Amino acid sequence: MIEVDADGVVEFTQALVRIPSTNDPGRRERAAADLVEARMREWGWDPVRYEVEPDRPNVVAVVEGGGGDGPTLMFEGHTDVVTEGDLSAWTVDPFGGEIRDGRLWGRGSADMKSGLAATLYATRALQLAGPFPGRIKVCALADEEGLMIGAHHFVSEGLAADVDGAIVAEPEAGEICAVAKGALRLRVDLTGKMAHGAMPQHGRNPLQAVGTLLVGLRALQEELQERHPAHEHLGEVYVTPTVLRAGSEEQVNVIPAVASVFVDVRTIPGVEHKTVADRVAALAAGDGITAEVSVLVDRPPVDVPVSDPVVAALAAAHRAVTGEEPVYGGVPGSTDGTVLTHWGGIPSVVYGPGGKWIAHQADEFVEVAEIVRCARVFAEAARRFLTRDL
Ligand SMILES: [Zn+2]
Repeated sequence: MIEVDADGVVEFTQALVRIPSTNDPGRRERAAADLVEARMREWGWDPVRYEVEPDRPNVVAVVEGGGGDGPTLMFEGHTDVVTEGDLSAWTVDPFGGEIRDGRLWGRGSADMKSGLAATLYATRALQLAGPFPGRIKVCALADEEGLMIGAHHFVSEGLAADVDGAIVAEPEAGEICAVAKGALRLRVDLTGKMAHGAMPQHGRNPLQAVGTLLVGLRALQEELQERHPAHEHLGEVYVTPTVLRAGSEEQVNVIPAVASVFVDVRTIPGVEHKTVADRVAALAAGDGITAEVSVLVDRPPVDVPVSDPVVAALAAAHRAVTGEEPVYGGVPGSTDGTVLTHWGGIPSVVYGPGGKWIAHQADEFVEVAEIVRCARVFAEAARRFLTRDL
């Protein structure tokens, strides 16, 4: 097994957690990215910093193996975390990085500063173990918790072009997740004609179209669920109206001209987002009401076969390091891996320390032993991927 600096990876996770790099204005990712960059330079790496937005850099280091031609593996982590929320819900300092009862506590401990630290220390361990073919691209990206501008910037800069596989270090409780659910967020604007409530015959009421649309959305969900049976790791397709806006409480005697419905669609492989958006538009229009559908977020589902080298290498490494059979799972939301796979063309797999459901909660934690174990799995996965020892 490749020797990983166990104390180092845990201490580095603590140092990252102590930086409140929350995804909101005024804090941002800069200080966490600085720390990552500094550690890379201490090791003699030559990271490149991309200012995606002010105080929101991506840090990317390419570590050449010096062992001849070979593939390029990408390790991906994000430097931002969600906000700590209501402090009274926490029993520890969210930015204390405290270790107690074998757990490292704090915002981002699981999602995903431990995973990010593990990618760095795994790469360093492999480098110290001797030459290897190909190279590893170690990436600390910004804004995974927002619009994923870091991952989109990475792809638009052409940095994905030479990557053969990516391991995304999100907390998945040790599961190997080569599939992820898709997310499509739509805004439907219905426009009718304003009129006095006493003379509705002169207007066109978009609120009645809202009713038709809501009933139609339920039917559309049923139809999609029937046509695309529940995925073994991702479950069902959902079409959920979440926001409704129309009219004014101060003017109960007025038929409003416009109404808006926001829809949150969660998809599984095989469901085309364009088709769903078109169907929603068709449901909404008619009866003198025009409908305009805007796509707010479009993150297609990820469906990388388990036979792909990056998944196979990770599974073999998990087996070799832990002595346990790998468990396959799915990502319930989307990650930077969605962007890397769909827009960057990189087969990606998600695997990292920390529980699946602990992310974004108060008293977030990660088991210390899991961080070290994961760094070892990453190092072994990289070795196997790059030497094609699957
Ligand atoms: Zn995350």
